[in-house]
Amino acid sequence: MSETKIFEASPEAKGKAKQLRLFAILAWVLAMAGQVFAILKLISDETLVWLIVAIVIILILAITGSTLWKKANKLDPASEKNKTKFFIQNQLGAIMGVLAFLPLVILILTNKNISGKTKGIAGSIAAVAMVAAGITGVDFNPSSIEKYTEEINQQTEAAQQMSIDSDNVYWSTAGNKYHAFQDCYHIKDKVLSNGSIKESWEQKGISELCKTCQKKAMAASSSSMKEIESAVETQ
Ligand SMILES: [Zn+2]
Repeated sequence: MSETKIFEASPEAKGKAKQLRLFAILAWVLAMAGQVFAILKLISDETLVWLIVAIVIILILAITGSTLWKKANKLDPASEKNKTKFFIQNQLGAIMGVLAFLPLVILILTNKNISGKTKGIAGSIAAVAMVAAGITGVDFNPSSIEKYTEEINQQTEAAQQMSIDSDNVYWSTAGNKYHAFQDCYHIKDKVLSNGSIKESWEQKGISELCKTCQKKAMAASSSSMKEIESAVETQ
């Protein structure tokens, strides 16, 4: 039981992550197409309103893409061993967010056919959108195989100290908790999976012990500790 457990995303989690990544890429492709359209058709004094509408749509697409991308990385994280790949995979949302606006910002600010007023309004809105897309795309606390592995081993050890069977916990696929007791009211009437703490991480990407189950397990293990203590004292 004391062997080190190494996280490996389940085939289902990998499949879900792949799907999320495809949708993220689709959102970014649409954002880029929107940018190309805005550059070719909308940088003029007459179409300022439409340019602003296009910027808002591109921003929504960029944020949608990075949100899906980050979700996928939680389910199927990269390894920290390859620093470059780890950085790109986790911060791709920020990179794409900036790329979705940078050419547009430059071309608005260097355009010679629009008035100073249009340049000021469109340029500043596009710049603010670029910063917003960049910041929301950053993963400030990126998941990794190594972090998950550490969490799983810590949680398994903590569960064993509370006399929880770490190879037999329960979870529903929605939510990010596992339960020590099948009759916990949080998972009442839900479709449950059952397995080790490690498996709950591998299926859900992230997982932690339900607080209600934790309290129950701690109360049970501390009362059994008292029984042991009093048994020792009476001897
Ligand atoms: Zn519970």
